[in-house]
Amino acid sequence: MCGRSSWSVLTVGVVVLLAHLPVTYQLPEVIKIGGLFDEGDLKQEIAFRYAVDSVNRQRILRRTKLQPIIKKIPPFDSFHASKRVCNLVNSGVAAIFGPQSGQTSAHVQSICDALEIPHIETRWDYRLRRDDYSVNLYPHPSSLSKAYLDLVRLFGWKSFCILYEDNEGLVRMQELLKTPAPNEFKVSIRQLPRGNDYRLLLSEIKNTLEQNIILDCKTEKVGEVLKQAQQIGIMSSFHNYIISSLDLHLVSLEDFKYGGSNITAVRLIDPDRDEVRHLTEDWQAGRIFYTNKLHDDDMIMKLRNMSVWTTETALMYDAVKLFVLAIQALDNSTDVQMTSLMCEGEEAWVHGNSLINYMKLVKLSGLTGHIEFDALGFRTDFTLDIVELSKDNLTKVGTWSRKTGANYTRTYEDTYKKIVDGLQNKTLIISFAYNDPYIMRKESSEQLTGNDRYEGFCIDLLNEISKILKFNYTLVPVPGNAYGARVKETGEWNGMIRELLDRRAEMAITDLTINFEREQAVDFTMPFMNMGISILYKKPQKMAPSLFSFLSPLSLEVWMYMITAYVGVSMLMYILARFTPYEWQNPHPCDPDPDTLENQFTILNCLWFAIGSLMQQGCDFLPQAVSTRMVAGMWWFFTLIMISSYTANLAAFLTVERMESPIESAEDLAKQTKIKYGSLSSGTTTSFFRDSSLPTYKRMWSFMQSTSPSVFVESNADGVKRVQSENGLYAYLMESTSIEYVVERNCDLTQIGGLLDSKSYGIALPPGSPYTSAISSTILALQETSTIQLLKRKWWSEMNGAGRCKTDKEEAGGSSMASELNLSNVGGVFVVLLGGMGLALIVAIGEFILECWDIAKEDQVPMMTVLSQELRFVFKCKGSTKPVRKKASESEVGNASNNLYGSDVYNYTGKNPLT
Ligand code: ASP
Repeated sequence: MCGRSSWSVLTVGVVVLLAHLPVTYQLPEVIKIGGLFDEGDLKQEIAFRYAVDSVNRQRILRRTKLQPIIKKIPPFDSFHASKRVCNLVNSGVAAIFGPQSGQTSAHVQSICDALEIPHIETRWDYRLRRDDYSVNLYPHPSSLSKAYLDLVRLFGWKSFCILYEDNEGLVRMQELLKTPAPNEFKVSIRQLPRGNDYRLLLSEIKNTLEQNIILDCKTEKVGEVLKQAQQIGIMSSFHNYIISSLDLHLVSLEDFKYGGSNITAVRLIDPDRDEVRHLTEDWQAGRIFYTNKLHDDDMIMKLRNMSVWTTETALMYDAVKLFVLAIQALDNSTDVQMTSLMCEGEEAWVHGNSLINYMKLVKLSGLTGHIEFDALGFRTDFTLDIVELSKDNLTKVGTWSRKTGANYTRTYEDTYKKIVDGLQNKTLIISFAYNDPYIMRKESSEQLTGNDRYEGFCIDLLNEISKILKFNYTLVPVPGNAYGARVKETGEWNGMIRELLDRRAEMAITDLTINFEREQAVDFTMPFMNMGISILYKKPQKMAPSLFSFLSPLSLEVWMYMITAYVGVSMLMYILARFTPYEWQNPHPCDPDPDTLENQFTILNCLWFAIGSLMQQGCDFLPQAVSTRMVAGMWWFFTLIMISSYTANLAAFLTVERMESPIESAEDLAKQTKIKYGSLSSGTTTSFFRDSSLPTYKRMWSFMQSTSPSVFVESNADGVKRVQSENGLYAYLMESTSIEYVVERNCDLTQIGGLLDSKSYGIALPPGSPYTSAISSTILALQETSTIQLLKRKWWSEMNGAGRCKTDKEEAGGSSMASELNLSNVGGVFVVLLGGMGLALIVAIGEFILECWDIAKEDQVPMMTVLSQELRFVFKCKGSTKPVRKKASESEVGNASNNLYGSDVYNYTGKNPLT
């Protein structure tokens, strides 16, 4: 039944040349075909017989029957092989199939070539040329090799080890060894030793820390090599294998399903395909044996327990199919006659050439997928299934073909699920470094063991992650509490990063900072917390109020501006008062006709008036003219604002205690040498300063390096103690989240300045760890549900004496609320004052001109003369009295010109619009 379906595919799927020619010829009733099989290679023979039997039973060639002539040859015995071939050609075979062994096959091929008998092979052959009369159904080595290269690229391997059994294996790996792009990957090659013990070699590979292995050996050996690899410990979830055997489905992989290592292979036949499954059922039911008339019961039992459908047997089955299609095509074009030939003779088979050409032209779909040959008779265009070992055995995860390369058909969900499944119930070794409150020793009256000995933010986080991903873990403190830095001299990593690289741990957790250098060495998950470097320092001491603290509310700049304004306004008042006629007053109001007028705004009086107003005390004389009143009004407004601002700020200054810190920022630290500063050795804070290109940080780094005794500490706790004990002579560069925790509990410490950089904490895993994405996703989920924020609040603000320094903190915070007022705070008042002064000046000029105009009109003198006389008087700036100007007629002198400024006699109009 199965045969029927396979043949129907064949008839539909193919061909070529059948179409146009009318069937007029008749094939002989019997066509003999020769099968050469290595002694003991029963599977090939059975597959051959079974294929022939299927053709005959289904009458594919109508009345023509195929007659298999089977010859056994000792493998590697070319002499016997030649004799058997001669026997076969002598009996008039139309084609010869096999053998499998390389040495004998070459002989067979050359005899067939000479006698023009098609030779069909199904074996691995790495030669790059074939004789004309031969085709090989086995995938061509260069294509196969390309498939392995594409797989390596698909996985993104940066280095791998090829473990091969014999030189043929290296031919299979040729594309990988050619290293297409320089530095694309690092390849090491190791040969499996003879015998059955590979442990020494495998432990050497383990010591190189190589995680990616390509295993090329006989299918029968694969199980043993993997078993020993498991014993050595290189079958963990960090190890990836590509097995080059096309028959991995025949190996029992039960023991390796749960180890976590990735085992990938490619295959030509899909044992789950209907056609293959039916053939296997036929085999197991014994139907194949009976049709082949093998009645040896012992043999039948033995064979039934063997899996027959290896790649090579399937190829043999397909080879017979190929022959049938070609002979059908030949039958349509010529009258086929079988000829008995002699090895020694000159004669060749006349149809051999056409038959082999038809074979090369045929395209068919067989048990081994699409079959097509290139001009040389190689099978270069084929499709492979990419299979991976999972809990459900080998599963197809993609396909490969020369044209499209390797393609995963597995979705991201499938991959993710596989990883999560692989993590379940696994116990991971987790390395950590102590740092409060991330991981701390738990204090308890009872004797604690295992993971119960530790507590902290990271432990809670780990519990949340492990609850979701269902894995167990064992916490192991890292020796020396070192986080991980590259030692400059050796280039080697230390701390937790070293533990991961040496595979002593499968995860590292604490306040472990993600930075470029570490990211190159290991894998990091998504960050779970963000922070930056800052300065931990002694809290500034409370300052005794200074003797001149009353000056503090205003900045020096504002004080200077105020003095300038005071002098400026006084001067302006003086000048305007001289300008305006209305400030010249009758000194004796009872005398209606005074000789002189008086101006109360002398320079000293102006200064007195201004200071009196500024001090909010007023003055015994007041301005009379509009312009001078405007000046006074603006000045009063100015003093009102300034004095209220001063009073308010002074109150703030007096109620808060001033703190004094010798440093306010990293720049301040860099500028001095009295206060030492340092960081955690083998941490990223140290590497930040070491690698920084900013001049300030560079200077700080060289200072830190050159300072003796060393300013570097082994743990943050040591750094905190040092800041406390050195009483202001040591500042510790620490990460802000840790500072936040420390200053909440140590009221004598504080953070100085802002953050020097911005970075995050993450969980580190060994490079190429399969768990990174699963843990990252879990961290994101925990962030989205605010679990991480709640844990942070718990460990920072609730546990272990949190909130102790709150009041202090608030007080300290209060000090920054009272700061001196500078020009930006009160600049507006100065502007208003200036504006007012300007306006007053304009009004004063107006008053002055109006007065001159009146005089000129009254005295019938030119306006310009009056103006120049009046201006001269004003700018003489001498005296506070002014003679009253008499009309020319009233003048005793009688000469107007004499009565003017030259004679110090001035008119008095008696007009004061304001009085
Ligand atoms: N969290 C840092 C680290 O991972 C420690 C430090 O340098 O302050 O290295």
